[in-house]
Parts: sequence; C-alpha cells; structure tokens
Amino acid sequence: MKTVQSTRRNFLRQAGAGCLALAAASLRPAGAQSTASAPKPNFVIIFCDDLGYGDLGVFGHPTIKTPNLDRMAAEGQKWTNFYAAASVCTPSRAGIMTGRLPIRNGMCSDKRRVLFPDSSGGLPTSEITIAKALKGQGYATGCIGKWHLGHLPQYLPTRHGFDSYFGIPYSNDMDQAAPKGVNVFRDSKSEYFNVPLMRNEAVIERPADQTTLTQRYSQEAVAYIKQNRDKPFFLYLAHSLPHVPLFRSKEFEGISERGLYGDVIEEIDDGVGKILSALRDEGLSEKTLVVFTSDNGPWLVYNEQGGSAGLLREGKGTTFEGGMREPTLFWWPGKIKPAVVSDMGSTLDLLPTFVSLAGGEIPTDRVYDGYDLTGALLDEMPSPRDEMFYYRNQTLWAVRKGPFKAHFRTQRCYVKDELKVHDPPLLYHLGHDPGEQTNIASRHPDVLQDLIALAERHKASVVPVKDQLAGRITKK
Ligand code: MG
Repeated sequence: MKTVQSTRRNFLRQAGAGCLALAAASLRPAGAQSTASAPKPNFVIIFCDDLGYGDLGVFGHPTIKTPNLDRMAAEGQKWTNFYAAASVCTPSRAGIMTGRLPIRNGMCSDKRRVLFPDSSGGLPTSEITIAKALKGQGYATGCIGKWHLGHLPQYLPTRHGFDSYFGIPYSNDMDQAAPKGVNVFRDSKSEYFNVPLMRNEAVIERPADQTTLTQRYSQEAVAYIKQNRDKPFFLYLAHSLPHVPLFRSKEFEGISERGLYGDVIEEIDDGVGKILSALRDEGLSEKTLVVFTSDNGPWLVYNEQGGSAGLLREGKGTTFEGGMREPTLFWWPGKIKPAVVSDMGSTLDLLPTFVSLAGGEIPTDRVYDGYDLTGALLDEMPSPRDEMFYYRNQTLWAVRKGPFKAHFRTQRCYVKDELKVHDPPLLYHLGHDPGEQTNIASRHPDVLQDLIALAERHKASVVPVKDQLAGRITKK
C-alpha cells in the first residue's frame, strides 16, 4: 500500500505545472475504480466571503465561538494548508467553480479586480462549472448566496448548470445608495446598499434585507437538502458575509465577545449546525461530503470589522499567505477519517474531486489546475497537490512548491504601499515560518532556481484570453 501511495505522489510531482491536464487525467482510472459501484455522494460547499485563517474557534480564535464548526472539524478533516484560487472575490469564485485558475478564463484583470454592477462581462458560458459537470452525472444542483461571476442574465447560476438560485448577484457593499456624508460601514443599514436579492433570474427584493440574509441562506439550504433527499445533489452555499458591511439577525445581536464581527461568524456557525443536523436527520450524513472554506482572506483595512489571518501575514488582495490560505474543513462521517491535514489543497481541487467521487471524468479539452483529493480524503494518501500559484490580477506574483514559497513581487493592498519587485525573489519556508518573516533566499539558491523554473513552466501553459472584468455596460 505504501509503495502505491508514494508512486502516485511521485508521478504527480513529476507531472508539475506544465502538465496539469495530464496529471488530472492520470487520476481518472483510480477514481473511477473506487467509485464505480458506490452510490453517488451528495456535495455541499459552504463558502464564506473574506473569512480569515484565524477567525474560527477551531483555527485558534480566542473569543469567536464556533461550536458547530469545531464539531465538524472533530468529526472530519481540518486542512491547514488549503488555498483559495485568488485573493479577491470574483477570480476566487471563478476558480472554485471551474477548477481552473482565473487567468485561463479571463476572470481576473489588471483594470478592475472584481465584477461590479456596471460590468458587462462574466464567467464565459464555455466554462464547465462544478454544477454543469455534476449535472452530466445526474445531479440536482442548487446555488444559494453570493454569485459574483456576472449579474447579467447570460452569466447567472441558472445559465451555468444550477437548477435553482437564491441570493445576491454581486457583493453586499455594491450599489451604494446612502445619503452624502454617511459612513456606510459604520452603523450600516440595508438601504445604504441597493443590492438585489434574486430567486432564479428574477429580483424578489431590493434592497435585500441584509440583516436576515445569513439566516435565510441557511434556511434555504436546509429546505434544499430535504427536498432533494432522494437523489444525488450538489449544493453551493456562498454566504455574503463576513464581507463588509456586516449584518446579523436580531437573535445574534451582541452575543459574541468579539463584537459585531464575532456575531456574524457565530450566526454562520449556527447555520452550519442546522445544515449538518438536517443531513443527519434525513439519514444523509454518510452520503454527503461537506466542505467549509472561504473565497479570500480578511479585509484588514476595516480593522475591527475585518477578520484576522491569525499568524499568517497580510490579508485580502495580497499574495501573502493571509490573502489566500483559508480555514478549511471536510466532513463526511463514516467515510473521512478525522484528522488534521497539513498537505496542500485548493478550492481548485474541488471540481476534479467531486467529479471523480461521482464516477465521472473531467473533460480533456482544457487545462485544469485542480487535483483529485479523493485519496487524501478517504484513504489517508498524501495530497497530490504540491504547488500553488499566487496571482494578483493577471500577473503571477508568487509560487509555492512543497514548503518553499518564492515571491517575485509584493505589495500590501487597500493601503498606500509601493510595489516591490524582487530579484532575486524572496524565499520563505512555510513549514518553519508560516508568517513569512525570514527571507532565506541566500541560503537556498538551488530551491530558488527550482521555483523560478516552475513559475516559467506554468506561465508557458497560459494562453491569453479575453479579459471578462474590464468591460462596462454601455448606457443607452
Ligand atoms: Mg471575498
């Protein structure tokens, strides 16, 4: 068994960045064999917005109480080196949905970092989302929460493989409509943001009452699970929070020692508890893989209203660890052996993993940046992921292989800070120094050369495509 494991891992390591489609393809026979006779599992993704690595009880926060997530971690796997596909909303969501880095489908831009209410672009319909891929395997598919991959009809979840949608099409701080001079993030009111709430393709409430959104999303998720209990389903629940402006319902007001931000997280945690209870009550817990993670790190510039990356450096918008490493949990009682996993994983890996567990195959007509984590989740095998590429907009700023990470460029975000181009690159050992404090480039010239070569191979695999975030709707 040991030999098989190490052979597989070595093969994948050799495959490297330039051959990701090949690496993913090589996983198919193993995945198909292990799941061919098994019933198709359900999949639930609970995705937060701007949640920091240090914001959960189980990831060490001293005053935010998350008993349901703590229990989920104890019953499942807590991954401590798990990455979002990018450090801001839209590109990160494109990554989780497609298993491909946003640079490959135009969902990152040097002109505008995310999509806005006046954006004319969105996730191209030629992309295959997790929902579309699982639809082909006979799954029911539901999307609840923040989409942010295009608000025009042709880009909505219902056009990207989801049977149903309930949520807001972009961020909760957009469409600002506050009176002049009002600080919209201090004592926020829903009416300061003219954000639409949609059911499928129709606006049903505007402005969305943001105080009850978290609760309503969780209720919708529970109802979805009950309605679909007899068929395989994929549910994508993307909370709008804790992205500022922060809101919570009446019953969570003032309950957390951490203040407003803590109230918000504790309400999300409560919803997680209700979703996992519903799965248990419906007899689905052993048939359902649940993943909890976030789209990017904390928005630090909002101080107390932003989260914490814990011991990691920096936050949202940056290519330091705090920007992209997320507190991540996998739960599947009876299937996943409880563990703390320090191997690498990414939201990019969810599409290949789910498709493999559903007994399917990922398409061979495009490059995938994700790996099939099935062996790591179910069979205590090492994760096939051994590298991570950190983009800021359309440029590769850093690369990680094993414990080593090289930064070619660094810059803080949302504050005045000069862009620094590093030649030679900065080098950190993330095992010894997860906070990226001590540059060890001069001690490891060979490692640095390897990382530079890896970055070059990766860049050579990227084919330029149309920038989807730059365009604006022309006013008639
Ligand atoms: Mg975000």
